[in-house]
Amino acid sequence: MEISNVDVNTYKIPLPEPVEAYAAGLMKAFDLIICKITNNNGIQGVGYITVHENQGLAISQIIKNSFKPLLLKQDPRLIELLWKNMWKATHYAGRGAPVSFAIAAVDVALWDLKGKCLKEPLWRLLGGHDKKVTAYAGNIDLNFSKEKLLDGATKSLDKGFKAIKMRLGRESLSEDIERLDAMRNHLPDNIMLMADANEAWRTDQAVAAFKEIERFKLVWLEEPIKPDDFNGYSYLRSLGKIPIAAGENLHTLSEFNQLITVNGVDFLEPDLTTCGGITPFMKVAKLAEINNLPICSHGVHELHVHLLAACPNASYLEFHAWRIDDFIDSSLVVKSGYTEPSEKPGHGINFDYDKLKSYLIN
Ligand SMILES: [Mg+2]
Repeated sequence: MEISNVDVNTYKIPLPEPVEAYAAGLMKAFDLIICKITNNNGIQGVGYITVHENQGLAISQIIKNSFKPLLLKQDPRLIELLWKNMWKATHYAGRGAPVSFAIAAVDVALWDLKGKCLKEPLWRLLGGHDKKVTAYAGNIDLNFSKEKLLDGATKSLDKGFKAIKMRLGRESLSEDIERLDAMRNHLPDNIMLMADANEAWRTDQAVAAFKEIERFKLVWLEEPIKPDDFNGYSYLRSLGKIPIAAGENLHTLSEFNQLITVNGVDFLEPDLTTCGGITPFMKVAKLAEINNLPICSHGVHELHVHLLAACPNASYLEFHAWRIDDFIDSSLVVKSGYTEPSEKPGHGINFDYDKLKSYLIN
């Protein structure tokens, strides 16, 4: 078997309304890169990644210029070898994002192709553990008024979620506390609450915040400080006040290893799009398992549901605000806080390219 074609397209998808998180600022759209890899039998694997707007074209150029020549005529079943070759070819300008995003799009396409060839859904191909995956609504709401914030939570509960995440990082800590207080009072007692500070604080500010926030009994507080301040994470976790989640902004296996080694995290939440695809995500999941840590996810929930369903240490799947539901043939359904991956071969996601056409930017 060999790869006969690699095709890449980039789309800019507008968000229904602008959303804000501390690190990223206001977001009005996101870029979607779709990478199709076809084998000599005409079977096509489809990979995709999402990224902040105006960054997709740079990433798709890496696939076109650096990876396509490496991939053509190669055996698509040898995913580890192809992954290593892509990493090696770009390591001088790479060893992390945006190269990790580019490798991820190819890696997902290769896994989808493998699943289609073997007629197996990814969740079973990757190990197969439990189809029932716990989900939470990862609302991006830092710019929302308090009323809109609570209304968004109600809508998520109506959709079947039993866990909600809200954003922190407003002008003052007292504002964050007021919003947390309003949310906790708004939610029924059996609904779990997480919070995401999106790197809003220095370590000393996070220490002060933890003292105030501890009483809300959050499932976790996510990214209180910059993602690569591993010593800061280690110190905050040693306080034992609130479980800490992190991982969406780590791009290499080595970074995950460092965060775990310094005892800096309670809930690991890699994002396959930022760390190089399904192949390294599953290695992070195993690293977490070895260290008795749960594995969660960030972004692209239609893909991550397969990965978490394959992990014995799976915890929460994030339903991210960058939705592609309008452009695919079947969306994930949440019932009583759980969702399940598709049983179709590969990831089972089929894009409606006619609908996507008007958003094409390359
Ligand atoms: Mg986050």
